[in-house]
Amino acid sequence: MNKTKLAGLTYSELEDFVTANNEPKFRAGQLHLWLYRKPATNFDEMTNLSKEFREKLKQIAVITDTQIAQKQVSKDGTIKYLLEYADGKRVETVLMSYDKRPNLTACVSTQIGCAVGCAFCATGKQGFTRNLSAQEMVEQVMTIQRDAGCIVTNLVFMGQGEPLLNYEETTKAIKILNTEMEIGMRRMTVSTCGIVPKIYELATLNRQLNLALSLHAPEHELRK
Ligand code: SF4
Repeated sequence: MNKTKLAGLTYSELEDFVTANNEPKFRAGQLHLWLYRKPATNFDEMTNLSKEFREKLKQIAVITDTQIAQKQVSKDGTIKYLLEYADGKRVETVLMSYDKRPNLTACVSTQIGCAVGCAFCATGKQGFTRNLSAQEMVEQVMTIQRDAGCIVTNLVFMGQGEPLLNYEETTKAIKILNTEMEIGMRRMTVSTCGIVPKIYELATLNRQLNLALSLHAPEHELRK
C-alpha cells in the first residue's frame, strides 16, 4: 500500500486526507500544527492525537520520505545538508544561522542539477537531471526544522538549480511556505541568473517577494 506523504500538503489537502480516511475534519488542524509549527519527527510525538489515530497514521502515511544523507556543521553555525529523495536523487540545502542571530535562513534548491551550465558552478557541470516538485522544496525546509529543532524565518531560493526554469513548482512552493509555514513573502528571495520572461511573469503575481540577480557577466555566452 502506498502511504501518503504529509510534508508539503496544504491545509485543504490535509482535510481531504483525513476525510478520505473517515476522520473528522479537525484532525487536519492538529496534523497541520505538528507538521509545520512544532515540528514533529514521528507520529508518536503528536501527543494531542488519539493513540488510535496515531497507529492508523503509521499504516497509511509518512511525514516525509526524504533522508539526510550527509550533514556538515561549520564553526559559524552554518549547517549544510545533503538530502536524498525517494528516487535516490540528492540535493544540497543549507541552514545559515550566523552569530546566533534570531533570523534563520534556509537556502533551498529547486532542481537536481542545472541546465544553465555556468562555468564557475559545480551544479552546472553536472548537467540537468530533473525538476524538484514543490513538495520536495518544502521538505527541504521541514527537514532542516526537524533536524535543527528550529523555525526557519527566511528563505533564499539560491541552492542548486535555476528557480525560474522550474517556475510552476517554485511559485507553488513559495505559496505553501507562505501560507502553511507562515514565512513572510518579504523574507523570501528568488535568485536567478536572469531568465527575463519569467522575471516578468513573477512580477505579475504581485507578491512582495525579493528578487536577486546573479549575473556574473552581461551576456550568456560570456557567463558560460
Ligand atoms: S544557474 Fe545557478 S545553479 Fe545553474 S549553473 Fe548557473 S550558478 Fe549553477
